[in-house]
Amino acid sequence: MSIFNAKQYVCKVCGYNLIGYYPNRCPFCGALRENFISSEECSQNYKIIKFKVNNKIERLNSFPSLGLEHAAYSIEIDNKLIWIDCPSTFKANLERMDKILFTHHHFLGASNLYREYYTAFVWIHIRDSEHHIAKKHPFDKKFENNFNIDGIEAFHIDGHTPGFTFYIFEDVLFVCDYLIPRNDSFIFNPYGPSENTIEGAKKLKKIIENCSFNKVCGFNYVLDFPIWKEKFDLLLNSRKN
Ligand SMILES: [Zn+2]
Ligand SMILES: [Zn+2]
Repeated sequence: MSIFNAKQYVCKVCGYNLIGYYPNRCPFCGALRENFISSEECSQNYKIIKFKVNNKIERLNSFPSLGLEHAAYSIEIDNKLIWIDCPSTFKANLERMDKILFTHHHFLGASNLYREYYTAFVWIHIRDSEHHIAKKHPFDKKFENNFNIDGIEAFHIDGHTPGFTFYIFEDVLFVCDYLIPRNDSFIFNPYGPSENTIEGAKKLKKIIENCSFNKVCGFNYVLDFPIWKEKFDLLLNSRKN
């Protein structure tokens, strides 16, 4: 049985996967339907490219690049892969991932297809699972509290989305699109409530203040921690009254 039996489309503007329906506009970015391709066509025309972050972590992206798609990351722990976030393109030729842990509900990608094909378990914070954009996406665990699984620590900070969760694995921090590179600095992600986003960033700062990191993995960057931290502190300080 093909994984593509159910109707599923991918918006080429933002990478959103529309499950089981074909609307006039993308519910995520508003693009018109001529920008949608079937997920099968997407799988045929795009591949997943990997970029090594360190010995255990790889960054995953669709290639050619697929609209606004955010980078996902694959972490190898005890011969098992755990993904943080998920590419928009589904491929059946990857190594099995055991879990897909989401930072938030904006870029759920083809997680439903990965879940089905590889029997992966999809986790997201309960408050982000409730958003209308996420309602056709299946989740196996809707967590409510911070957790630690196989050494990956999850911290719910709210902010950019109500369920936004950042992750730490060893000396690497995963923050997806909480901060957006702009010129040579960061801005807070403008697609969310600005006050909450700043509050969430303060929580993030407090949680990481006594940890030492090497890298930070974001939605379109991997940065050395000292460089990232300097930009992050500058942004936070600029918001203090
Ligand atoms: Zn879209
Ligand atoms: Zn986002």
